[in-house]
Amino acid sequence: MQYTEIMVRYGELSTKGRNKKSFIDRLGTNVRHALHQFDQVKVHAQQDRLHVQLNGADYDQVMKQLKNVFGIQTFSPSIKVAKDFAAVAKAAEEMVEEQVDHPITFKIETRRSDHHFPIDTFEMNDKLGGDLLHKFPDKLKVDVHHPDLTIRVEIRLNGIFLSSETIKGAGGLPVGTAGKGMMMLSGGIDSPVAAYLGMKRGVSMEMVHFFSPPYTSPQALAKAKQLTEKLAKYCGHIKFIQVPFTEIQETVKEKVPEGYLMTIQRRMMLRLATALMEKRHGLAIFNGESLGQVASQTMESMLAIEDVTNYPVLRPVLSFDKAEIIKIAEDIDTYDLSILPYEDCCTVFTPPSPKTKPSVKKARKYEQHLDIDGLIQRSLDGVKITDIHPGEDFLNQNEDVFAELL
Ligand code: ATP
Ligand code: MG
Repeated sequence: MQYTEIMVRYGELSTKGRNKKSFIDRLGTNVRHALHQFDQVKVHAQQDRLHVQLNGADYDQVMKQLKNVFGIQTFSPSIKVAKDFAAVAKAAEEMVEEQVDHPITFKIETRRSDHHFPIDTFEMNDKLGGDLLHKFPDKLKVDVHHPDLTIRVEIRLNGIFLSSETIKGAGGLPVGTAGKGMMMLSGGIDSPVAAYLGMKRGVSMEMVHFFSPPYTSPQALAKAKQLTEKLAKYCGHIKFIQVPFTEIQETVKEKVPEGYLMTIQRRMMLRLATALMEKRHGLAIFNGESLGQVASQTMESMLAIEDVTNYPVLRPVLSFDKAEIIKIAEDIDTYDLSILPYEDCCTVFTPPSPKTKPSVKKARKYEQHLDIDGLIQRSLDGVKITDIHPGEDFLNQNEDVFAELL
């Protein structure tokens, strides 16, 4: 079938009241970005629908990209025909011919926004239905309640559009409509899923990754970048901020009692994320903590850690079980990367028995032996930022490094 456009439905966007226009504009920009490799494609974001004019582009490829754009409820490949019944009937017949190879039930569903068109919705359903039944007596039977196939006809000012498939989009809200967030991205399973869920609600994420050479390997860093690459397809590109953490971890390990190692390390991470956020105009910090999953993810621990920031710390996977998180990780294709066995900076310095109920008071007390400002400043001085795009390869680039290690 030579489809002429993909018709995109907004879903939750349509409830946005006065903000609706800016949401739609943003979705239009994001869709254009996602489809930038198709030169001939034109995107028109209108009040009720967004139209992707294919102009000959491969609709399967275009739809594959559209599936990653948040803010889209459903979409349908459509064919535009002239505003006359014969043209509609011809296109509908072609659809049936191509899509139906055994007897099925069907119905026609017409919408008419051009009220000057002489055939109204009832008449179109009736006439086109009759035409198809006449043409395909052995293949088609009408069922208006639970049809196997629904052929949608939209009579608009600029033409008549036919479609028969409705494909589920990514849902959520357009990335960027919620503002900027700083995602604390480890190499684990949980934080990429948390990043995905935050982005799904419209957050434009920047990844903050702490690494501790020589305790953590170049592969661990490459893995975090590769995870970022996996997530970049949902928004075009993502800033990856790598933050050196070695001096802090060594100092904390030397000066802080073992039970508080984890708490104080996390407080340092959060201070750094906060400093970066102030500089880069973010609104909230995101992490991949899930309540009760490990010792450091209790409410007492969250309280002790959040003591060092005034920004909201948001935890999109807070109430998910591990199995639920893994399911999403598999769906978004981050799981296989996340389980690669490269140690990240926390694993290396994890004490055997961290306090599950640390107190804010003690955390503050143990930090008195540390030059907090100096440690933070030196770490910030070593920050490196890269912009990561879909399709970039970081893990295999490190083949030389691998070879050296073997
Ligand atoms: P994940 O699977 O996301 O690593 P986890 O269950 O292993 O989570 P922790 O290692 O306790 O849990 O980390 C909790 C959260 O702290 C992570 O989800 C992440 O947001 C943040 N975090 C941990 N290590 C790092 C790191 N090296 N860089 C940035 N953030 C980190
Ligand atoms: Mg982890």
